[in-house]
Amino acid sequence: TKVDNPYAGARGYVNPEWKAKAESVTGGSRVSNNPTAVWIDRIAAINGTSGSSSNGSMGVRDHLDAALAQGAGYIQFVIYNLPGRDCAALASNGELGVNELPKYKTDYIDPIAAIQADAKYKALRIINIVEIDSLPNLVTNVGSQAGATATCDTMKANGGYVQGIGYALSKLGALGNTYNYVDAAHHGWIGWDSNFGPTADIMLEAARASGNVKNVHGFITNTANYSALRELFVQPSTSVNGQSVRQSKWVDWNQYTDELTFAQAFRTKLVSIGFDSGIGMLIDTSRNGWGGAARPTAASTSTNVDTFVNESRIDRRIHAGNWCNQSGAGLGERPTAAPASGIDAYVWVKPPGESDGSSTLIDNDEGKGFDQMCDPAYAGNARNGNSMSGALPNAPISGAWFPAQFAQLMANAYPAL
Ligand code: BGC
Repeated sequence: TKVDNPYAGARGYVNPEWKAKAESVTGGSRVSNNPTAVWIDRIAAINGTSGSSSNGSMGVRDHLDAALAQGAGYIQFVIYNLPGRDCAALASNGELGVNELPKYKTDYIDPIAAIQADAKYKALRIINIVEIDSLPNLVTNVGSQAGATATCDTMKANGGYVQGIGYALSKLGALGNTYNYVDAAHHGWIGWDSNFGPTADIMLEAARASGNVKNVHGFITNTANYSALRELFVQPSTSVNGQSVRQSKWVDWNQYTDELTFAQAFRTKLVSIGFDSGIGMLIDTSRNGWGGAARPTAASTSTNVDTFVNESRIDRRIHAGNWCNQSGAGLGERPTAAPASGIDAYVWVKPPGESDGSSTLIDNDEGKGFDQMCDPAYAGNARNGNSMSGALPNAPISGAWFPAQFAQLMANAYPAL
């Protein structure tokens, strides 16, 4: 039988492949003993790859065996290979075409579920983080909306995401020691009323497609993103000179300004529409520290609402819709179990130092496209308020090791290293 919080009282598996990369950068050993998730970002990763930028030779079984050898209590996998993957961005497009749902089931989910079901791993808590950046795209980037894309429209119409996730949840949720956490974007994506409820609804649709909403143990926010955990000086209730910060350009009428309040509120919403009352949230704090010299230590004294917000906010991005290799970011809270009400853990799901996408077009045979949001010279689109991308230069393709980013993440860690 499953425990309520699989992170509680358990030591996390340290991925030796990430650890070695982290230790290849000066000072990396200060953080290399933290658990990070293992991304199964293609079919070949199930058995381990040679020559891929994002995985090494260890496959799912190798990682599970290594977790046993480490005496770990839990291990985290990211299930990330939907047909038509990453429909509103190009940097992490995957190997499966929009109509390859059958292949997703038989060649990807089934073999992973079979390995996880090996009795040898019964004592391990196996955590599956299910399909990053998928369902929310079907809410915000479809139809006549400014950020809509043809692939998101297709994936909504053909049911590939909802059915794929439903299948993954049912197969991976069937075991007594596996725990599914579904990706729920972040406050700077679905924190507006127009997106919040509809995103919860599509989560429920996918959970129901699995046959039982209890196949969902919880949700994760901020995966591979940069939204601050807590905005100490900018809360939706804060006002400046009689004006709510919600009307600032940065907040832009969002109901939330940080991940902790968003995750807690989204949990309440999900339970209210039919999810189990025991669900818990995870927050990816791998790159949302925003420490270093640019971090504000007090609220601004400006009486101009935009100036106040810009001088007071912890999140130093140009726009909250920016997501690629953000300049100035730092490591966030170390992985911690049960840090706050409703939160099962702070986790490092995006392995810090792995790129979000290349800054220029780089030829590759891994299905990775070039997204302009990763080009520091790009002036943006409707999904980031037509703002500069804020991306670091000279980045390799998504998933590949980016030592300069890792060095900056350590330098700007908060709490500081
Ligand atoms: C990439 C994956 C990679 C993951 C973790 C994603 O953006 O597309 O290939 O495994 O990041 O770094």
